[in-house]
Amino acid sequence: MFKVIYDDVGKHDLLHPCCRPEMYDFFYNNGAGHPNCLDNINNSLNEKRPIITPVNIFMNTKIDTDGNISVEKPLSKAGNRIILKAEHDVRISVAACSASESDCNSKKCTAIQIQITD
Ligand SMILES: [Zn+2]
Repeated sequence: MFKVIYDDVGKHDLLHPCCRPEMYDFFYNNGAGHPNCLDNINNSLNEKRPIITPVNIFMNTKIDTDGNISVEKPLSKAGNRIILKAEHDVRISVAACSASESDCNSKKCTAIQIQITD
């Protein structure tokens, strides 16, 4: 679907589904009204998908020798970028994850910049 043309970080996540209210409830007891990627992406696409399996760009996920999965602090730094080339027409949605409770975003959500060109 996409070809990676350039990548400052080189590590991304394909394991985790979108964060959702149930996840915030389970881990942090604060899911009600918490912004989340599932709702943000569904709303932007005007859909109601029960599960979305995103490409989590710059998300630093580790799998240990026992198969345990953990989300670690990002390897990316401000200004890092990835350039993707769509190999055919695509419809995409992008969410800047709202998880400030974990190491996923180093406990601080920040803005992202996206440029789409021909
Ligand atoms: Zn999220």
